[in-house]
Amino acid sequence: MARYHIETYGCTANRGESRQIERALRDGGHAPAAGPEDADVAILNSCTVVEKTERNMLRRAQELEAETAELIVTGCMALAQGEEFREAGVDAQVLHWDEVPAAAMNGECPTPTPDAEPILDGVIGILPIARGCMSDCSYCITKQATGKIDSPPIEENVEKARALVHAGAKEIRITGQDTGVYGWEQGERVLHELLDRVCDIEGEFRVRLGMANPKGVHGIREELATVFAENERLYNFIHAPVQSGSNDVLGDMRRQHQVREFVEVVETFDDALDEWTLSTDFIVGFPTETDADHEQSMALLREVRPEKINVTRFSKRPGTDAADMKGLGGTVKKERSKAMSELKMDVVGEAYESMVGTERRVLVVEEGTGDSVKCRDDAYRQVIVQNASEHGVEPGNFLDVEITGHQTVYAFGRPV
Ligand code: SF4
Repeated sequence: MARYHIETYGCTANRGESRQIERALRDGGHAPAAGPEDADVAILNSCTVVEKTERNMLRRAQELEAETAELIVTGCMALAQGEEFREAGVDAQVLHWDEVPAAAMNGECPTPTPDAEPILDGVIGILPIARGCMSDCSYCITKQATGKIDSPPIEENVEKARALVHAGAKEIRITGQDTGVYGWEQGERVLHELLDRVCDIEGEFRVRLGMANPKGVHGIREELATVFAENERLYNFIHAPVQSGSNDVLGDMRRQHQVREFVEVVETFDDALDEWTLSTDFIVGFPTETDADHEQSMALLREVRPEKINVTRFSKRPGTDAADMKGLGGTVKKERSKAMSELKMDVVGEAYESMVGTERRVLVVEEGTGDSVKCRDDAYRQVIVQNASEHGVEPGNFLDVEITGHQTVYAFGRPV
């Protein structure tokens, strides 16, 4: 479990983004620190309304960098003038709000809510299907708190999903530390059966599958791809964190998969689905990562071209085996992280650019900033609809939109 410190500046919309980040971190098993000096990671949610505010943001970022182990800068100034933090010599990851939780979690899997009970949050129903994982990653501190996988029966999870749909959930998020190994401890991997059964529930809703490590997915990749192809309710989206393109580094991380298995998962989904989103994570600057290993990660990213990528600069978590390894220098980690983040922008930007001019059906999942709403298309790509009240759209609505433009990690849509 990591301790975080978050500071928010500016308008209520920015405060709303901070609340979402905090919720994701708490759901991920992390806890607030007493202050920046006690935190494993500090998050500065910045504002850029006037020049004086900008100067204050830069000064505060410099102070936080000196006070805390790791700094993430997000918010309006990070998005509009991220370069200024770098030019001011601030050693921080500069990220979009949506990217902050994964980066703050340092490559560890999210932990479902402590009691693993479903939660209804607006029209989003969160359904933890199991606790624990089958791995023992050398950098992970979460594992020590959660232990081996414990999977309740399919019927029990289907009943919980049904209750969420009856309570008004339009998007069911199936979560777990590693959903791909659901049922493993009972000798049967049955994630695909569970997904099939949840999609059979009566009602109008979508289902998003949460994090599943490549090893577990690889063992049932054909079955899973078939379930995705046959169920329109399932978002065509998988989040399979590869973490490195080097088998040597994966071995030192004690990940259970090899690069080839990850690529085979991608190929299987490419064959089964016309349009789908691959989300993956890379840890940059693991203690044993050489320049050649880093290049292999860059090459893998270029090869599989994920539409969503979380890049995390490695940081030590006390009590883990990786914390005892001799680490790389800050400059090396910074340079590799910068190179991968730039490549990520190209790869993800290209995916969103290809959407412009197309029409697609989306589900409105939550309020956005100002008078906008956040929507998801069939492949779980984020689409922002502005002037929502003028169009009469609100969370829970399904609507058809034309994609009119994009930022790097989301598209803009106009109702048609
Ligand atoms: S799969 Fe690895 S990173 Fe995820 S919880 Fe298990 S040990 Fe931690």
